[in-house]
Amino acid sequence: MSAPSTETSIAEALAWARKRIQPLEARLLLRHVCRTSAAHLAARPEETLPLAQWEAFQRLIEHRVAGEPIAYLTGEREFYGRAFFVNASVLIPRPETELLIELAVAHFSAVPRPRVLDLGTGSGILAITLALELDHPVITATDISRDALAVATANALRLGVGITFLWSDWYALLKREDRFRLIVANPPYIVEDDPHLAQGDLRFEPRAALASGRDGLRALTAIIAGAGRHLEDGGWLFLEHGYNQAAAVRGLLADAGFADIASWKDMAGIERVSAGRWTG
Ligand code: GLN
Repeated sequence: MSAPSTETSIAEALAWARKRIQPLEARLLLRHVCRTSAAHLAARPEETLPLAQWEAFQRLIEHRVAGEPIAYLTGEREFYGRAFFVNASVLIPRPETELLIELAVAHFSAVPRPRVLDLGTGSGILAITLALELDHPVITATDISRDALAVATANALRLGVGITFLWSDWYALLKREDRFRLIVANPPYIVEDDPHLAQGDLRFEPRAALASGRDGLRALTAIIAGAGRHLEDGGWLFLEHGYNQAAAVRGLLADAGFADIASWKDMAGIERVSAGRWTG
């Protein structure tokens, strides 16, 4: 069926799109194009779409049919109850990453003005959410991708938080004397030849935010090795990692001299975050 060309109603547009993509996604994309609510779309099926919106909707559906992630098409994804800008320069926020926030909040919400470092901030979700959830934290966030930092900066403005963003390869551009109470990271950790990288949304995400060497541990190893030089005495390092990496990460933390090492399971029952305390 070719697309109806003129005088297309909301109901016709959705019927056309539903032949190509999932109904829920079709409604989401139409809401995005029309900048309207789900309730409006449901209540006014006979309403005619302006031609520009109908054409924009068709283009989005074509991109979705080609596999592009919904979050990149709408330019947004929710994380910890807040909407963040995303584009193809950053990883799409994942629900399991909320575990890292929950743990950091549980450990640090009673600490006034903690100094916090987020390594490889991407869209900024960890740094910005911690800025909003902790008690007047002082936050630095780094990324090696300037395009990612542009997204993170836009998100910090959108959500009204002040963060020091640094264009830096992990710790490289920090001052030697910079010390933090908490360091967090959701670094790339997928094995470089993992077939999942060629499937689904991952095909469209930045490879540098996903894959990290032949064992997936290159970034995690570098972050753990450098953390001691930038943690306060008693400060913590919290890391997201892959489904089968918890034991390896705990081992790296132990080798680097961390204490009180632990791992926590995500909603799927997978050990997803590990942490250790630096005792100087
Ligand atoms: N959790 C992501 C995935 O498996 C990977 C994110 C990352 O490498 N930090 O798709």
